[in-house]
Amino acid sequence: MKNKNKTTRTSTQCKDTSKYSNQQFFRKLNASIKDKCKTSGIVLTDFIQTSSGIVLHAITKNRLPCCPYCGEPSHSVHDYRYRKLQYTEILSQNSKIIITCRRMNCTNDKCSKKTFMEPLKFARPYARSVDEVASRMKKESLKQPSRLASQTLASQHIKVSSSTCLRTARSLGKENPMDIACSGYVAIDDLAYRKGHKYMCAIADHYTRRVLAMFDTRYGPEIGEWFKMHPQIKLVSRDGSWAYASIIKEALPDAEQVSDHFHLDKGLGDHMVEVIQKMICQKKNTLPYPYPSLDEARSYIMEDLYEMGEIKHRKRVRNYFAARHMQEEGIPLKDIAEKLNVKSQQVYNLFNTNIKKILSNDQMKILRQTPELARIISSGSIAPTSIEKKMDGRLCSKLICKATKGLRDRYKILRQQVRIHNKDPKNKKGTKVTAKAIRKYIMTGMTTSEKLLKLKQTQPNIDSIIQTCISFRNMVAGKEDAPDIDTWLKLAYNCNCRKLASFAEYITRDKEAIKNTYLTNYSNGIMEGTVNKIKAIKRSMFNRASVELLRAKAIYGGYYPLN
Ligand SMILES: [Zn+2]
Repeated sequence: MKNKNKTTRTSTQCKDTSKYSNQQFFRKLNASIKDKCKTSGIVLTDFIQTSSGIVLHAITKNRLPCCPYCGEPSHSVHDYRYRKLQYTEILSQNSKIIITCRRMNCTNDKCSKKTFMEPLKFARPYARSVDEVASRMKKESLKQPSRLASQTLASQHIKVSSSTCLRTARSLGKENPMDIACSGYVAIDDLAYRKGHKYMCAIADHYTRRVLAMFDTRYGPEIGEWFKMHPQIKLVSRDGSWAYASIIKEALPDAEQVSDHFHLDKGLGDHMVEVIQKMICQKKNTLPYPYPSLDEARSYIMEDLYEMGEIKHRKRVRNYFAARHMQEEGIPLKDIAEKLNVKSQQVYNLFNTNIKKILSNDQMKILRQTPELARIISSGSIAPTSIEKKMDGRLCSKLICKATKGLRDRYKILRQQVRIHNKDPKNKKGTKVTAKAIRKYIMTGMTTSEKLLKLKQTQPNIDSIIQTCISFRNMVAGKEDAPDIDTWLKLAYNCNCRKLASFAEYITRDKEAIKNTYLTNYSNGIMEGTVNKIKAIKRSMFNRASVELLRAKAIYGGYYPLN
């Protein structure tokens, strides 16, 4: 009956066409989507062919639609509404479907809702397109830039604007998915969103190679939260970063950590290149900037202390200190008075006056801090700002300037001379051994550079240093004849090389993770590659991608379908 009905209506309303007669067209159309309609619970009632494509009309067939809120079936109709949905192509034409949907009264008294829209099998509530179109839209938007996605969809006879594609992709990346499949073996690393300004952090799976999560912070608390939500994680590989080590340790105390062997090799190289460069005197011709010794700094400060205040005051201060000094040497009072060219009574008075009455408040403050000030200056700070930082507010900047004026004036000249000397191209090092060559020498013990070969004559411990470095590399690479970590640490401490010892200290702190480097086969290579991939995606969008869009493309791009 229904079928008959449909045919008659169609023949009256159809406005087509040169290609087919109405009946022929409808038969063809019906044949192509009949099965689809049957399974999705609608009945085609009508179709109109317009210049922009086909518009289908349909009604729903379900007798007793169930309330989506309470699940109770209902037969009471409230009213009818139209839903206009973008449909997949029909006979190579853009198509839309207009469905007459019922709004039902919910008969369940306990339900929170009075009415509900009857659910459709092929479209979500409030959706503007059928599920298949929505899924194609997501897929294309994640795969390529939104304009291209829009064009691709147009070639599939689906009309979607580029901004809709963009919005679709971006909405997927609002949060990290929590129900994502994870093998339990993951890698973590950071990447620059804008170098020097904003950094991000990404986590990827070792086996599926999929990005599992991205954070718009480098070491934020979200990362720890994410790890806590995934207690199934057994192993995390990372670079040598201490921040990640502590985050993982806190969130997943039972998970194994693996330090990446490339970063360890690089770290050792960075430490040792400088040592070898010093040994071959590559930097010898440049002079170091001069700093005063402790006593020198103290005497300069005392000089400045005497020079504060009026002439009369200055003279008194000077006499006071000179007299005290002479008294300590055991010179009699009379002689002191003679030397200072004052009366004996005055010297006597000076001895009996408290120092607080002689010096002004500022002078007292400086005098109290003189040993500390001298220590800071002699350890290599001469600019008032850096001294002030190290003094930690014990002396204000004005007093620091006053107390170090003479010293700074003197050293300004000396430092200027060194600067001129160092800038002179004549004094720059001669034939240079490149850092790369030194690195190779450290890691393999082989070199063609004569300077490096000659080192053996002047540096007795060079052999043991190089051997230690080579054995470290073998150890990290997991070679059979390599020492284990404790043996290596002893070797390193016995080398009598400060830099190597400081590197060994770092190894001691991160011992467990480094042990895992050679005990397991995991490295952070997967993550370094993933970071490259994410950066390539970012650049393909001219570095304008938002964090959400980047996250969506990194997590879902290429791994469709999603939920
Ligand atoms: Zn209900």
